[in-house]
Formats: sequence, C-alpha cells, structure tokens
Amino acid sequence: MNFQGKTAIVTGAARGIGLAIARRLAEGGATVIMVDLLEQALQEAAASLAQTPGTVHTFMLNVTDEQAVEKLFDQVLAKTGQVDILINNAGITRDGLLVAMSTDDWDAVLNVNLKGTFLMTKYACRIMMRQRSGRIVNIASVSGLMGNPGQANYSASKAGVVGFTKTVAREMAGRNICCNAVAPGFIDTEMTRVLPDKAKERALSLIPLGRMGTVDDVAAAVCFLASDQAAYITGQVLAVDGGMAM
Ligand code: NAD
Repeated sequence: MNFQGKTAIVTGAARGIGLAIARRLAEGGATVIMVDLLEQALQEAAASLAQTPGTVHTFMLNVTDEQAVEKLFDQVLAKTGQVDILINNAGITRDGLLVAMSTDDWDAVLNVNLKGTFLMTKYACRIMMRQRSGRIVNIASVSGLMGNPGQANYSASKAGVVGFTKTVAREMAGRNICCNAVAPGFIDTEMTRVLPDKAKERALSLIPLGRMGTVDDVAAAVCFLASDQAAYITGQVLAVDGGMAM
C-alpha cells in the first residue's frame, strides 16, 4: 500500500498491534511518528523499522496528558508540515468483575482508552481541518460491541470509542476527514498473553475461524482504512475477529 508523502501518527506503537501498523505504514513509505509511554521499547521498535522505505520518528508521550499531546502536534507540524493519518491504538486493560472493580481501575482504563483517543483526535482534527483532508482510525474492540465478563471498564471505554468515532465522522465529513474504527477480537499480543488459560480457551471457543488473530491481521485492515483506497468509507466499525462478533 502506498503511503509516500504521508505523515502518520500511531499511538501505542512500541509493540503489539501498534508496532505492526507502524511497520506497514513505513513499508508504504510514510513518515511515521511512533508514540508510546515505554521509552526503551519504543526505541527498539523504531530501530526494527530502519530498513523500511519510510522515515520513523519517536515521541515519548502519555496520551492522557493534554499539554503533552498539544506539544506533540506542534512538534510534528514543525517537522513535517502536515498530519495525514492518526491511528489511536494505545490502550490498556485492568480486568476484574464489576462488583470488585476499583474506581482506580475504572478511571485508568477510561482515561487511556477513551480520553486519550479524544485528546489525540481533537488536536489532529485542528490540523486536518485546515488541510481539508485526513484519516483517523480508532482501535476499538469486540468487547465494546458484545460485552465481556470481567471487562466492564474496558468494554465501556471501547463502546465509547465507537460512539466517538461516529460523531467525529459526522462532524468532520465536510472537511474530507474520514474517521473509522477497527474492532479486533482475540489477538496474540502481550495484552492477551497474560490471560489465564481458562480465559484463552473460552475466547477461542467463540471464534468461528478457530484461531487467534495476528497483529498483521489487524494492521492490514487499519492501513486499508487509512489509505486513499478507503476515501468513501467513514463512520464504520470493522471487526477483525475471525467472525467472533458477527
Ligand atoms: P499492548 O499492551 O501490546 O500494546 C499497547 C501499547 O500501548 C503499549 O506499547 C503501551 O505502552 C502503550 N500505551 C498504553 N498506555 C499508554 C498511554 N497512556 N500513552 C501512550 N501509550 C500507551 O496491546 P495490544 O494488544 O497491541 O493492543 C493495542 C490496541 O488494540 C489497544 O487499544 C487494545 O485495547 C486493542 N485491542 C487488542 C486486542 C487483543 O486481543 N490484543 C483485542 C481488541 C482490542
């Protein structure tokens, strides 16, 4: 896929799905701004993309910190003069049954997954509106579509991302900015590797295609929605889940 001449920002790019998205964009020739909290992992991730035709920059950032987010966009604009693509991928889980869920765990998940997506999108849109073009892809989850026991905070945050995506799509359509969501199912990353075997077996039993997804399964869908080929698609939620949430 051709991303030559495009500047793309990917949050949570140090590993997992975010790194796979950054790799695909860089392979397509994009200038990729890789954003994450984890400094060393971020440097290693960027180094792993050194052989791609794209240009890679790193930025250590907590997506919940509005001042830092504003500074990021100022610096990206100074460096590249444009922001064409934003991928809101940074996300966390703090699983637990509702009756035992602490308010801290609720707040932490809502802050990163929903508020972080709001802040990044707000500052990206200010630039994209002036450009009269842009592509935003938010990473939701099948948990936000179906619910999932033990994930009241996470599924609420991801359902919030879906509603947010549709509103941004409607508000920004007149400026030629498309905003879509991808809802991954059960993907093999650090996030799911820590789950107990019983939870993994239960998740697998719900997948018609009978396997976990890979980070590349998700990255392929995200990069399609970020590409010129998806110019007439906005406000959609594309599940990449082996049929889990159909
Ligand atoms: P991961 O934990 O491997 O990677 C998430 C990355 O986000 C990490 O590098 C982490 O440091 C970064 N991050 C976390 N909080 C941050 C913050 N406040 N600011 C900046 N960066 C931050 O997870 P993953 O499995 O690659 O998940 C990526 C996205 O996909 C998340 O939004 C997740 O909710 C979503 N998702 C994952 C699955 C799955 O099965 N793995 C399923 C559905 C949705």
